[in-house]
Amino acid sequence: MVESGAAKVVAHAVAPLPYAYNALEPFIDEQTMHVHRDKHHEAYCANLNAALEKHPELKTKTVEELLSNLQTVPEDIRAAVRNNGGGYLHHSLFWTFMWPKGGGAPRGRIAEVIESLGGFDAFKTKFNDAGARHFGSGWVWLVRNLTGKYEIITTANQDSPVSLGVFPVFCNDVWEHAYYLKYQNRRAEYLQAWWNVVNWDEINRRLGTAGK
Ligand code: MN
Repeated sequence: MVESGAAKVVAHAVAPLPYAYNALEPFIDEQTMHVHRDKHHEAYCANLNAALEKHPELKTKTVEELLSNLQTVPEDIRAAVRNNGGGYLHHSLFWTFMWPKGGGAPRGRIAEVIESLGGFDAFKTKFNDAGARHFGSGWVWLVRNLTGKYEIITTANQDSPVSLGVFPVFCNDVWEHAYYLKYQNRRAEYLQAWWNVVNWDEINRRLGTAGK
């Protein structure tokens, strides 16, 4: 945490990983976790903070507030907030959607949601296919839209579901930096392997705190 002088505004910061860098092996390798969190995620965070230096009045807003009202962010930093605020938020979420003793069949509220979408096997196929087919960098998400309906979407680059007004339930990162060291060009294999580390407990916690 960094305090910026008398205003006592706390800069955005990357939290420590909630598990060891090698804890998701063999599905997600240690080197990828180091580069991904320590380089990519930290850079998004630093670039977000740097952009906000130009408009200090925005430092008190959460990144979710900034992303959900991008049109109110001054034009000179809007792209920086969109890209780096998105990258900062999405990775903060993403680390929590994985757990070393994760995986297995969904349980609790998320099991009901997935069942309503056709069952776990069909859901995994649809989620994996959406991620594999997404052209270029981005994310694949399960979101809940404004009418309470759950759906799988993809977003480009670091564009955020939060900016679309939908609630992100969980996601997987399909940027090449998320898998290339271990899986090279085999994105589909990475997507398949990822279910071995999915953190249903955290996803259920989000569904419980989401108010619906
Ligand atoms: Mn990433």
